[in-house]
Order: sequence, then C-alpha cells, then structure tokens
Amino acid sequence: DLLPAARPRTVLLAAPRSFCAGVERAIEVVERALEQWGAPIYVRKQIVHNTHVVADLEMRGAVFVEDLAEIPDGATVVFSAHGVSPQVRAEADRRGLRVVDATCPLVTKVHTEARRFAGRGDTVVLIGHDGHEEVEGTMGEVPERTVLVESADDVAALEVPDPERVSYLTQTTLAVDETEEVIGALRERFPALRGPTSDDICYATTNRQDALGAIAEESDLVLVVGSDNSSNSLRLVELAGRHGTPAHLIDAVGDIRPEWLRDAGVVGLTAGASAPPRLVEDVIAALSGLGPVTVTEREAARETLQFQLPPAVR
Ligand code: SF4
Repeated sequence: DLLPAARPRTVLLAAPRSFCAGVERAIEVVERALEQWGAPIYVRKQIVHNTHVVADLEMRGAVFVEDLAEIPDGATVVFSAHGVSPQVRAEADRRGLRVVDATCPLVTKVHTEARRFAGRGDTVVLIGHDGHEEVEGTMGEVPERTVLVESADDVAALEVPDPERVSYLTQTTLAVDETEEVIGALRERFPALRGPTSDDICYATTNRQDALGAIAEESDLVLVVGSDNSSNSLRLVELAGRHGTPAHLIDAVGDIRPEWLRDAGVVGLTAGASAPPRLVEDVIAALSGLGPVTVTEREAARETLQFQLPPAVR
C-alpha cells in the first residue's frame, strides 16, 4: 500500500526557521514599490530564492528579469536580497533606471569588507559557491583581487601574489562547520591570514543550523521546506545528513513522498530563510491528516532583528 499507516507521530519543529529579517525586508521593498509606483515593478533576479514568494509577487505585478537589458528605460528596478556588483549598479545608472536596493544589509557588509581588505593590498579569498548570485555580486567589488574557494581542497591549489597579504570573506549562507574547516585550511597555508571579526555567515543561517542540529539526531526523518536554489536550505539538508538522519528538501507539502513517512515516528521540520512560514503549517496539517500529531517546538535562539527599509520606500 502506498499510504503510510495512520500512526501517531511527533513533529519536532526547529526554531528559528523560515523568513529572516533580510528576506522580510526584501519582500516588503517590492510590495511597497508596487504600492508607490504601480505595476510593473522590475526585479533583477529572484528577489529571494523561493518559488512561492516569486509567484506571489508576480501575481501582484512584479516582473522578474535575469538581466537589466530586459527592462525598459526609465522603469523601476529592485535589486534582490543577494546583492549586485558595482558593474550592475553602473549599468542601471547609465540606463536611467530608478533603483530600489533590497540587498540584505548583511550582504552589503561583506561587500564593504571586500573593498576594505583589497584596499589595504590583500588578496581576498571568498569562501562560497561558484555561480551563486551573492558570490557574483561580492566578487564584482574587486574582481582583480578576489579569488573563490569552495572547499578545503581548493585551498591547496590557491596561488596568491603575496602569502603575507591574504584575507578571507564568506558567503552569508554557508554551513558553519564546513566553513570553519576551510578557514582552518587557509590559516594553515597563510599563517598571516586576516578576516572579518567573526565569519560572514549571517545570524539567520547560523540560528537555523543550530536549531536543526539540536533536533536532527532525535528525528527519524528531517523535512526542510525551501526551494532547490536556496543555499541556506540546501545546507540544512546536508547538515541533517551529517547527523545521520535522512533529510529531504521540499518546495511545498506536495513534494512529500509517502514512503519517507512509513517508518518515521519523529519528523524533524524546519524551513530555510527564504521559505514562507505558511508552507511549514501546510506540512503539519498534512501530517495531521495521516494520524495524530504532537508538535513540539524546540527553540535554539530568539530572533528580534529587523532591518530598516531603504529610504526610497520607507
Ligand atoms: Fe540576510 Fe542572512 Fe537573510 Fe541572507 S539569510 S537575507 S544574509 S539575514
């Protein structure tokens, strides 16, 4: 039979989960731009990496484009939470576009560090994932002085002009444990290595990983709500795996496969920073349809951070 037997289940709900302050702000920027100037409002790239957020804003008049070339002169463009390179800013300026910048302030902080570290003569080693929009934006600050590494293995192959002048930065949504390894490898190769005060992995990424880490081993199965291009969601799936618990990324409740649930009496549940909270509620509702469910929330940290909106839409 395909349906998992009706059995009592426990859902361990990781907290914090779902939206972070940077994602909430970015969505609000688009909403306010729509209110203020009316549709269409162009958004360069997905505002945050979530299909539901994007579809919802599209319905309300946002038009998502990959490239500024797709936007008519004089129109309004929102830059996504992941940030943009100075080249993109300059292009928007040349085109006479009205820009509203939804870059997360914690990404902007990394851009500022890149300029500062390169400015003092260092080679900047950015730890991150090749092709991710945030990495493209950060690399674009000082491209001639920045190199990308993805893993500790990449560190061995690094060539820099002066090993005494090396700084590192990180993408904001990496796995904390893996990143420590890469920083360790860098420090071994370049003992004079300098970096930010703490790494650049943001509070929301760290908290979601801590919260999942606290429930992963007790869970028979972990479900992570998030889209498949969401870096911090993917890191959560991998983290559960490192704790020895099978884990799946689901974009929505419909992705859950009955066979995953068959032997799962305890289901760990979380969501990446770009995934709307209602999708988590949908999962709990669906599980409740399969038998009695006891939901226990485990809070690893309390989040109160909020970011101010950009002046143009404040
Ligand atoms: Fe900002 Fe972190 Fe959220 Fe990204 S995950 S938008 S860096 S708070």
